[in-house]
Amino acid sequence: MTASPVRPVIIAANWKMNTTPAGAGGLAADIAAATNIPGVIRVICPPFVCLEVVGRALAGSGVAIGAQNVHAEQAGAYTGEIAAAMLAGLASWCIVGHSERRRDQGEDDIQVARKLARCAEHGLRPILCVGEQLADRQAGRAEATVRRQLEQTVAELRRLGQALPADLVVAYEPVWAIGTGLTARGSDASAMARLIRKTLGAAGSATPGAVPVLYGGSVTSSTIGEFLAEPELDGALVGGASLKVEEMAGIVARAGMTAAGRDAVGSGGGGGR
Ligand code: PEP
Repeated sequence: MTASPVRPVIIAANWKMNTTPAGAGGLAADIAAATNIPGVIRVICPPFVCLEVVGRALAGSGVAIGAQNVHAEQAGAYTGEIAAAMLAGLASWCIVGHSERRRDQGEDDIQVARKLARCAEHGLRPILCVGEQLADRQAGRAEATVRRQLEQTVAELRRLGQALPADLVVAYEPVWAIGTGLTARGSDASAMARLIRKTLGAAGSATPGAVPVLYGGSVTSSTIGEFLAEPELDGALVGGASLKVEEMAGIVARAGMTAAGRDAVGSGGGGGR
């Protein structure tokens, strides 16, 4: 019997269009100090203009730094955009296909696939965001929507002659739960994580069971437990609450419990998640 992979537990902070270079370093350092829990991969994604100051503040802290976006092309006449090569030394992770960009910038799965390709070329670990609109869920189309997003992304990667990035992380973020205070049910998010891995497997991923799937959508220190109680989920992409030190402390502390449970299972010590 093949043992199922022990996946890492990841808490990623998406600061969105908040903070300034004057304040971001201090906030990042405070979050790093309050979340120093063994076994949890922590990632902070500040605005582009704060990457350098956050990088200095987090040096030696073990917290990784991510960009919130990257352009789909290598370089060229794209005023105001940021290419993957420009992130060298500034970020090692990158959010791709966030629903706010799909909504506001009209990003589609074709562009998302090209962004994944740029991440792979430049050593950025991608957090690929997928998720349905409220109307999709109400019409019973939530799973079909997420499956289609993944299939179209993989199809474009294939057309470009590229495989799925080996270090891919997927964030399941129901659009109706982002920034609204509403959350999905843990069981629904878990079902979606299963669907995501199944779809990746069918689309050619050699190790879909090893792909971390995060939940995102109004996660707080009070709601994280419902998601991390689900073995299919491996952490969270946190927006609003990630700007609050106490919230991040609570979220990462809960994630540390899951990480410790997985560690015990992975080392043959038994125990649940
Ligand atoms: C996000 O930005 O990905 C997010 C999930 O935001 P929030 O936690 O504020 O809903």
